[in-house]
Amino acid sequence: MTSRLVLPDVLPITSKRHDILHQITLPDLSREISAAKSSIQDSVIGLLSSYPKYPTDRVDEINELESAYKDLLRMESRQKFLNSKLTEMKSKYTQQSSDAPRLNRENWDSFLNNEYNLINVRKEWIKLQSEEVEIDKKDQWLRVFCALPYIWSDPTRIIPNDPFETDAAQEEEGEDIKVEGGVVELTCPVSVKKFQSPMISVKCHHTIDNESLQSLFQQGKSIQCPVSGCNKTLTSRDFVPDRLMHIRVLISELRE
Ligand SMILES: [Zn+2]
Repeated sequence: MTSRLVLPDVLPITSKRHDILHQITLPDLSREISAAKSSIQDSVIGLLSSYPKYPTDRVDEINELESAYKDLLRMESRQKFLNSKLTEMKSKYTQQSSDAPRLNRENWDSFLNNEYNLINVRKEWIKLQSEEVEIDKKDQWLRVFCALPYIWSDPTRIIPNDPFETDAAQEEEGEDIKVEGGVVELTCPVSVKKFQSPMISVKCHHTIDNESLQSLFQQGKSIQCPVSGCNKTLTSRDFVPDRLMHIRVLISELRE
């Protein structure tokens, strides 16, 4: 008997200890991450305000801000990924534990060989730490970073490789409607007033001011995109703040 006293790697968790399992959580860093993001954004706006032309002697600094911002996005994605995996593992392990028999002398070997296929949370967790996590390429501030060299002194310039504007152009198989005569309009297509809080549709990538959207959505939960020739059906959940347009407007005001 003494020679067999090897403990199985994984044992079912008893219902008494479930609450311990549920106490295992990741620290919530979202507040710290968003504070760090804001301070990076403030630094960019500070540079935009102090230099009317793209400051070629400050490129390193701008690149550093961009890479720090990307690190934060990566951290955010990792946090989200690990949180969802942790929840998944906890419920899987709980379920498996209730399905598995209690450990006794007869099934000891079966547990040693993990014949009940119990998830080894510790091992899985270590494995997850080294997994690569993609950053959100459609993050609105990433667009701003890519656009900076173009819009620094001319906020109406078109960005050649903007993922939103390129996608929109591809979907319509023609030129982007927002772009007329080679410039980006800084006015809302509905109110024809300068954008105050521009919102971009993630479905068709058209930008409409929040105020116009609010009045459009008073007529119903879904609307047709008011940009002529688009007509995509959109709900309020299809819109996110268009940071790039916001920065364009800000630059236009700074350069006036
Ligand atoms: Zn549209």
